[in-house]
Amino acid sequence: MLKTGILSVVLLISISAFEQKSNHQQPKLVIGIVVDQMRFDYLKKFNFLFGENGFKRLLQNGTNCTQTFIPYYPSVTACGHACISSGSVPSLHGINGNTFYDYNNARVAYCVEDDKVNTIGSTNEKAGKMSPANLWVTALADEIRFANNFKNKSYGISIKDRGAILMAGHSANGAFWYDSKSGNFISSSYYMSELPQWLTNFNNKKYVDSFYLQNWSLAKEINIYQQWADTDNNGYEQNPFNDKEPPIFPYNLSSFVGKDYGKINFTPHSNHLLTKLALELIKNEKLGQNSDLTDFLSVSYSAPDYIGHAFGPNSWEELDNYIRLDKEIENLLNNLDVTVGKNNYTLFLTADHGVAPIAEYNKKLKIPSDNLDDKELKTIILEYLNQQKIDARIIKEVSEYNIYFDLKLCDSIGLSLTEMEKNLNLYLQKYSWFLNATNIYQLENSLLPDDYKKILANSFNHQRSGQIIIIPKSGIIDNRSNKGTSHGVLFNYDRHIPLIFYGWGIKKGFVYNQKSFMTDIAPTISNLLQIQEPSGSVGTSLYQIFENQK
Ligand code: ZN
Ligand code: ZN
Repeated sequence: MLKTGILSVVLLISISAFEQKSNHQQPKLVIGIVVDQMRFDYLKKFNFLFGENGFKRLLQNGTNCTQTFIPYYPSVTACGHACISSGSVPSLHGINGNTFYDYNNARVAYCVEDDKVNTIGSTNEKAGKMSPANLWVTALADEIRFANNFKNKSYGISIKDRGAILMAGHSANGAFWYDSKSGNFISSSYYMSELPQWLTNFNNKKYVDSFYLQNWSLAKEINIYQQWADTDNNGYEQNPFNDKEPPIFPYNLSSFVGKDYGKINFTPHSNHLLTKLALELIKNEKLGQNSDLTDFLSVSYSAPDYIGHAFGPNSWEELDNYIRLDKEIENLLNNLDVTVGKNNYTLFLTADHGVAPIAEYNKKLKIPSDNLDDKELKTIILEYLNQQKIDARIIKEVSEYNIYFDLKLCDSIGLSLTEMEKNLNLYLQKYSWFLNATNIYQLENSLLPDDYKKILANSFNHQRSGQIIIIPKSGIIDNRSNKGTSHGVLFNYDRHIPLIFYGWGIKKGFVYNQKSFMTDIAPTISNLLQIQEPSGSVGTSLYQIFENQK
């Protein structure tokens, strides 16, 4: 009797262990899709153009977080990818901009530069001297690796180096990005000593040349573009393919075959190229194909950003890009269903930042707007110093609206930043673009709303930040020419991003309307997997979106 009892208990335990295994207590793959420069409102604006199986599938069968914002400044690619992957902010994770002045080394540094490593996969020596060394915290991908005792895999891919590297984490098996010189996807010796054979084979196929031969023409009937976008030929778009010609459809790309491999970045073909790479990577590295492990993959689509900068968010080009990107998402999901299995993967889709409409387009519509780039801002600041007879060497750099001071020199000439802030706020008032100059050490005294003060506090660290931050008015764009546009400020067109969760463990057809932040993504996935959140994560788990929550 006793024996039978023990036997049935043992049997029960082993049955329940078996059930747990077969039900997958964790997803086999976490996949993060970043759409570079995608604004939240595009999900609605372009919705009628989407098919049923791309963005719409994610919206209808996943959770749409409609109120997700960026909680730091500047809203640029490097900071975005670092924040998505770490749940952290520049004051803690150290990625203060695409570039920043590095006080330790007394020079301007690129976010993912690393002099200690070398290019793998191309003769372009500079393009591969990259790693996540400048990121001070762990990434979600690192925590997923810890939780799986490093038996699992983590990869990041993108056209941009920073888009791949900052998402894949420190302990990644690989990050691959596009080298515009050779047309190859490359990596660095930080990750590997040579490219995997499958990637060399992929590069050797020279897909870019075949895409160039396809040129770029409209995917849909012309009346759709006429109705839902600005005029195609308007005088304030750039033509990245040929600046002598008007930026209008169709674009002939065939002349770039065999040489101008950077031009592909400005076309939806580069999204297609990246999806192709993702599918090859999933197949060859067998991502999501081990029931006992959770792998990680990030795919960061860069073309929306390149196209947005050149042609603006209201262009035919960007509209066409999203129509086609929808198909890439569909393609990727269909492949994951087969290789990893439906409901065996957890996916999130978000953006690293939004974008402002082109200033000249805004002006045409009587929306306040103008361009002001760092170079112009620096000239103005130097003019001020000259007028006040202050040694110009006190300014080390002006970058992404941060003014970096030589604090030792300031001290030795008896110049206080409090005084400087007061005087700059007075002096800059004569410029119509100017809103505020904030001394980061005196944030509490700033006239900015509390939310903005928090954003600035999240952005500052001693090693890589400027001490006075210039805040231009809404509609002022960090852009050098009067053509094209940019992003980077703390107004909502740059800060409000899409955020969709989908798949294993996620509520279906749910809309989460409470305010959330980019910093919440990594802790939400960590909570879902019941693993440690990244070391510098300051976000909150959006547990209300979990399937098991009523
Ligand atoms: Zn970006
Ligand atoms: Zn950009």
